[in-house]
Amino acid sequence: MRILVTGGAGFIGSALVRRLIEHTGHEVLVFDKLTYAGVLSSLEPAASNSRYSFIQADICDADAVSQALREFKPDIIAHLAAESHVDRSIDGPSAFIQTNMVGTFVMLNQALGYWRDLSESQKAAFRFHHISTDEVFGSLGEDGFFTEATAYDPRSPYSASKAGSDHLVRAWGHTYGLPVLVTNCSNNYGPYHFPEKLIPLIIIRALKGEPLPVYGDGSNVRDWLFVDDHARALQAVFETGEPGETYNVGGNAERKNIEVVTAICSILDRLHPRDDGRAYAEQITYVADRPGHDHRYAIDASKISAELGWTPSVTFEQGIEHTVSWYLDNQDWWQGILDARYSTQRLGVVHD
Ligand code: NAD
Repeated sequence: MRILVTGGAGFIGSALVRRLIEHTGHEVLVFDKLTYAGVLSSLEPAASNSRYSFIQADICDADAVSQALREFKPDIIAHLAAESHVDRSIDGPSAFIQTNMVGTFVMLNQALGYWRDLSESQKAAFRFHHISTDEVFGSLGEDGFFTEATAYDPRSPYSASKAGSDHLVRAWGHTYGLPVLVTNCSNNYGPYHFPEKLIPLIIIRALKGEPLPVYGDGSNVRDWLFVDDHARALQAVFETGEPGETYNVGGNAERKNIEVVTAICSILDRLHPRDDGRAYAEQITYVADRPGHDHRYAIDASKISAELGWTPSVTFEQGIEHTVSWYLDNQDWWQGILDARYSTQRLGVVHD
C-alpha cells in the first residue's frame, strides 16, 4: 500500500515510518512542516530506502496537501501532524487551534476531493486514519477506564483542539462517507522522544546533574505505552480496522509520575552510576503543579485487542529499561536538539 504519514518526523510518526519501512513492503511519504518538534534524524534508519520519500509542507496549506495527494496517490492517510505538548498549549494555544483543528479540516477536505476521484475499488480500500489522544476524555478519579463510549470532556487547550479534530474527522465520515478511522491513545514513551517530555527530560536532567522536576505531589497517573507498540497498533487499525470505528489504545501500565521518575533513577543508578556514588533520586524536586493538571488517565483497550488482536508486546519495566539505555547510547541525537532548539527549561506556567 501507499501510505502518506503527516507528522512523520515527530516522535510517534517516525516510529511508525521506521516500522513500515523495516517490517512491511509499503511505500511511505512523510508530509511534515518540521516545526520545533520535527526531527529529521529520527527518520535516518528509513531515509535511504527507496520506498521512503519526504515533503516539507504545512497541513494548513491546501495546495500543498492537494498536490501531495494527487502525486503520491495514497491508499492510506495516517494523520499524526499536530502540536502535541500540553505545556506549550498553555503558553501559546493559537498554534494548537491552527494545526490541530484548521489543519485537520484542510486534510479532510483535500482527502475528500482526492477520494471522490478514485475508482470504486480504490474508494472502498481508502482510509483516513486520525491519530488522537485519551486526553479528549478529561480526567478520571481513582477508578474506572476510558472506553470508546466515554463522553468527551477535554480540559486543556491541547486536548480541546484534539477533541475538535476528532469531531471533524467523524463528521467527514458521517456526512460525506469518507472512510475514516480514529484512535485515541494513552501517553507514549520510548526512543526518539523530544527532550521536553517527562521521561526524556528526567533522563537528560539526571545525567546532567540537574534537579528532576516533579509537578505537584507526583501523584498524577498516566497509562504508559511503548511507542513501537503504538506504531504496531496504528498499522493494525489502518490495515484491518472497520471504517467509521474508533479504537482506544493503551499500555495497561498505569504509573504515578513519581513512580516513573524513581524507576528511571534506579535504572540509571545501575546502568550509569553517579560519579559521587549517590542515588539519582536525590535530584528529585517537587515544583508547582501544571495549571489544570488532569489527575488520572487510564485506557480500556479491550476493543482493539478483541477485534484486531493487538496487545502491547512489552511491559512498562521492559520498555523503560530499553528507553533509558537508548538515551544513554544516543546522546548525539538529544544533545543536537538541546543545542539547537530547547534547553530543558520549564514550560506551561500560567503568568498573570
Ligand atoms: P510530536 O510533537 O513529536 O510530532 C508532531 C509532528 O508534526 C512534528 O514532526 C511536527 O513537525 C509536525 N507538524 C506540526 N505541525 C505541523 C503542520 N502544521 N503541518 C505539518 N506538520 C506539522 O508529536 P507526537 O508525540 O509524535 O504525536 C503525534 C500524534 O499523536 C499527535 O497527533 C498527538 O496528538 C497524538 N498522540 C500523542 C501521544 C503522546 O504520548 N505523544 C499520545 C496519544 C496521541
